[in-house]
Amino acid sequence: MTPHQTDVFIVGGGPAGLAAGIAARLRGFRVMLADGCRPPIDKACGEGLMADALAGLRRLGVSLSREQGALFTGIRFVEPGFSAEARFRGGPGLGIRRTTLHSLLVERASELGVDLHWGRPARLDAAGASVDGTPVRARWMVGADGQNSSFRRWAGLDRCRGYTRRFGFRRHFRVSPWSDFVEVHWTERCQAYITPVSADEVCVAVISRDPRLRFEDFFRLFPGAARRLEGASPGTAPRGAVTASCRLHSVVSGSFALIGEASGSLDAITGEGLSLAFRQAVALAEALERDDLAWYAAEHRRIARMPRLMERLMLILDQNTWVRHQVLRAFTAEPRLFARLLDIHTRQPAASTFYPSPRYL
Ligand SMILES: Cc1cc2nc3c(=O)[nH]c(=O)nc-3n(C[C@H](O)[C@H](O)[C@H](O)COP(=O)(O)OP(=O)(O)OC[C@H]3O[C@@H](n4cnc5c(N)ncnc54)[C@H](O)[C@@H]3O)c2cc1C
Repeated sequence: MTPHQTDVFIVGGGPAGLAAGIAARLRGFRVMLADGCRPPIDKACGEGLMADALAGLRRLGVSLSREQGALFTGIRFVEPGFSAEARFRGGPGLGIRRTTLHSLLVERASELGVDLHWGRPARLDAAGASVDGTPVRARWMVGADGQNSSFRRWAGLDRCRGYTRRFGFRRHFRVSPWSDFVEVHWTERCQAYITPVSADEVCVAVISRDPRLRFEDFFRLFPGAARRLEGASPGTAPRGAVTASCRLHSVVSGSFALIGEASGSLDAITGEGLSLAFRQAVALAEALERDDLAWYAAEHRRIARMPRLMERLMLILDQNTWVRHQVLRAFTAEPRLFARLLDIHTRQPAASTFYPSPRYL
């Protein structure tokens, strides 16, 4: 049997795998990608793309317009007795349905000539990698197969530190967004965040440590937010996923590299997963050109540093009510503090003035 021959073989065609394929093709590599599912692939996600995720997509040649989703210009934290908000200085984010984003990435990858194999899970065993029984020979193999990556185990990169996990659900509701903020509603060890995703739809994501939590609990736990959805018909069924925080000892080994959630993940509350994946894809392609995966490993660490700090803060707010109330009180009384935190989160330099009118896409 003639094996598949390619420069880069990518296992997994979610946002990270597609972004990696696009970035590698842009540098002239032959790329083959296999995914066990068929597009557009849906997944539980808050569906918010921060400005740097949009910048990352533009670098890959995927330009999104506001018509494909809904702009959001800042973040609002809400808990009974508190409401604090701040706007992004570096431009708005975009809420976009996961399936729309996936379709756009697939379109760009096809246009660039990535050799796409949908509905074809990669088999990884002692004999090597194969798709549909045909062996794959590649200079580099990239694991983009998500949180429970079998590629990671196969490549011997499964050692992880600081593993924590929470449980998430998302569901869409047909209602005009009542605000151009992503609203993060807090209660004891549980958050709901609401992202506008079109002119007449919002995405509600609920995240908690409690494995017994179901999407329906949202209405009981967050009555204020639930009132906004009164009379709105659901646009989708609830979809669940585990959201884990996990840092790997290494994301490369020999000619193997990991990307996206396969390469370690952040808790969903950071809203950073996709942005990280797009930045990793650009870095990985550069590393392939340099023929230096150690360079990618160093960039991977650097890219995740600030989001990891932000994750730590968010998880402290999740676990410690007293601290959360102090922080929310401070943000409510002094909105510049919250604005500064958002600047750090979105990697903006310190500002002397706050709240300029938002730049649009
Ligand atoms: C509740 C929740 C809310 C979130 N909210 C946000 C948010 O608002 N903003 C944000 O940026 N991020 C958010 N995230 C994180 C974001 O969804 C992830 O970072 C992103 O999905 C990671 O993409 P990925 O391509 O690495 O993995 P995935 O999207 O999981 O893709 C992995 C792919 O690999 C395929 N695969 C698996 N095994 C094989 C195999 N053997 N062969 C071939 N294919 C295989 C799967 O079919 C899948 O398509 C959220 C996550 C959760 C759980």
